Amino acid sequence: MTQADTLRFLGAGSRDGHPDVVLFGVPFDATASFRPGARFGPAAIRIWSDVLETYSPAFDADLEDVHLVDSGDLQIPVTGFEQLSGEVRRKVKEVLRSGGRPLMMGGEHLVTLPAVEECLEMYADLKVLQLDAHLDRREEYQGVIFSHATVMKRIRDRLGKGRLLQFGVRSGTREEWEEAREEGAVVHDPGRLRASLGEGPVYLSVDLDVLDPSVMPETGTPEPGGLTFEQLQEVLLSLRGMNIIGADVVEYCPPPAGGGPSGAVAAKVVREMVLLMAEGPKGTKYREPGTRG
Ligand code: MN
Ligand code: MN
Repeated sequence: MTQADTLRFLGAGSRDGHPDVVLFGVPFDATASFRPGARFGPAAIRIWSDVLETYSPAFDADLEDVHLVDSGDLQIPVTGFEQLSGEVRRKVKEVLRSGGRPLMMGGEHLVTLPAVEECLEMYADLKVLQLDAHLDRREEYQGVIFSHATVMKRIRDRLGKGRLLQFGVRSGTREEWEEAREEGAVVHDPGRLRASLGEGPVYLSVDLDVLDPSVMPETGTPEPGGLTFEQLQEVLLSLRGMNIIGADVVEYCPPPAGGGPSGAVAAKVVREMVLLMAEGPKGTKYREPGTRG
């Protein structure tokens, strides 16, 4: 047995049934350009989750009141977008069909692309909210089109204009910024997020480098000038009651032997997102693709 088989996130079971939220890890960092190691993220998040309480005073909610399942890590070869995509899509589909909400622990940011693609199969009107230091809108990066640096460009191409919102961003090429600004994708005022997203289904992708490097140093591409933990928590609180049908927390990049307290930061973000997703509107039932009512 691997560590991931025995270790679960705080407050999570491995039961089947009808979970509210299903956590799973995607230990993939094949396209990391600066610092690899996000493949070690899911295991370290589980270890560090143990320092937290199940109760969140900010949400006034408790993991013990949530049917949370941690189904371990996907088995992904270290290279290969094809295998990554197939495995992530299979898992996301399984969770959505069970009536649960998938919450994926990366891994690098590329893991978001297949998750969003699968969510789009069921929710054609999906919007995506990305919290990130980087726009991730390059057309290609180091000769590849599937990369952590191109992931939101690929997602935007699939969604079309006006359905990708980017918050916390402070880095990108001139071309990326021109396109993002022209589309109105970048949101600066957190108070506008909710109105911009509307009432429809939302996929929430949190690249932990949205936090300032002083808060989250163990990430693949640290970028100064980021959010405090409290500011990120305020953004999550502002999304309460929204229909967040899928989400991820990516780019936590600990050393192989286990990281420092950044793991507690990553784990606390995961805990708050579980609570946020679990209290969304209930009764979102699976529909076969093409039968949207
Ligand atoms: Mn980033
Ligand atoms: Mn990113």
